Amino acid sequence: MSVALLALGGTISVPDRARGARLSGTEITAAVPGLAGTGVVLDVRDVHAVPSGSLTFAQVLDVVALASRAVAEGAEGVVVTQGTDTLEETAFLADLVWPHEAPLVLTGAMRQPAMAGADGPANVLAAVRVAASRAARGAGALVVFNDEVHAARWVRKTHSTSTATFASPGAGPLGHVVEGRVRMLLAAPRHEPLPAAFDRERLEAARVALHVVTLDDDGEQLEGLGTAYRGLVVAGFGVGHVPGGLAPRLGELAGRMPVVLTSRTGSGSVLRETYCAPGSETDLRQRGLIDGGFLDPYKARVLLRLLLAGGAGREEIAEAFARRG
Ligand code: ASP
Repeated sequence: MSVALLALGGTISVPDRARGARLSGTEITAAVPGLAGTGVVLDVRDVHAVPSGSLTFAQVLDVVALASRAVAEGAEGVVVTQGTDTLEETAFLADLVWPHEAPLVLTGAMRQPAMAGADGPANVLAAVRVAASRAARGAGALVVFNDEVHAARWVRKTHSTSTATFASPGAGPLGHVVEGRVRMLLAAPRHEPLPAAFDRERLEAARVALHVVTLDDDGEQLEGLGTAYRGLVVAGFGVGHVPGGLAPRLGELAGRMPVVLTSRTGSGSVLRETYCAPGSETDLRQRGLIDGGFLDPYKARVLLRLLLAGGAGREEIAEAFARRG
């Protein structure tokens, strides 16, 4: 049984505040008690040693390409270690293009390796077990953290410091690692993978803005957006509402670029036809906004950018959100 482990940066690789150099993948795995006992042969490679907030779409797609190559060369699964800050986005990005039955498992740590109760070793051990598990095959990209297995599709970072930060609001974890055994309880819906090879210039150009709607929002922030961006995700109030005065501006933008409506609440879907006031979901859909469904604003932004980079038009984008949202 062999698993490839691709090491990026993040807290899991930060030795202590005084020393600058990051831990390599080999150093990270050497500190994991019980790893040898799993019988899994690890092929460890160092990739981008950067904080996860500095990762780009292109770098994440490069990591996916490396992971794909490892699977083609015989790895039964892949583990990626990275920072937790953008894990919910990188995992979803990887999931959208991951074509293999072999699991792609992302993990990290909330406590640095030198801290009391460092969680990196336990997370790596659980991630390796999931990557090597038959039960996790076909589940796409997964986030394994705190002995829980989360679907990339639903997982969120919900706390700034807790080791139990990853949760899947409204869905729950797909499974658990118990006494070293991977117990999958649920299956997340899978879709046809999007093509993983993007023209880098098109990817770069497919800039998608995210606007979080706030009390008394006059939309001034959206001024000039049409020239710099190709798409917009709106994180609306509750079920997908905005101030009535903002609706015409969003409608105008929707005439020029895809504008996807999501909820800023952190869980649940936007509605489609329950409220009718100006700025309501019904009004915004009539003005051309696309229903983001259950996708949170960050994940909707990832999907929209990949669709735009792949050359999708408005209809195709609306269709993709109807299927995946
Ligand atoms: N700032 C760090 C990162 O995302 C936090 C972490 O790894 O948990 O790279």
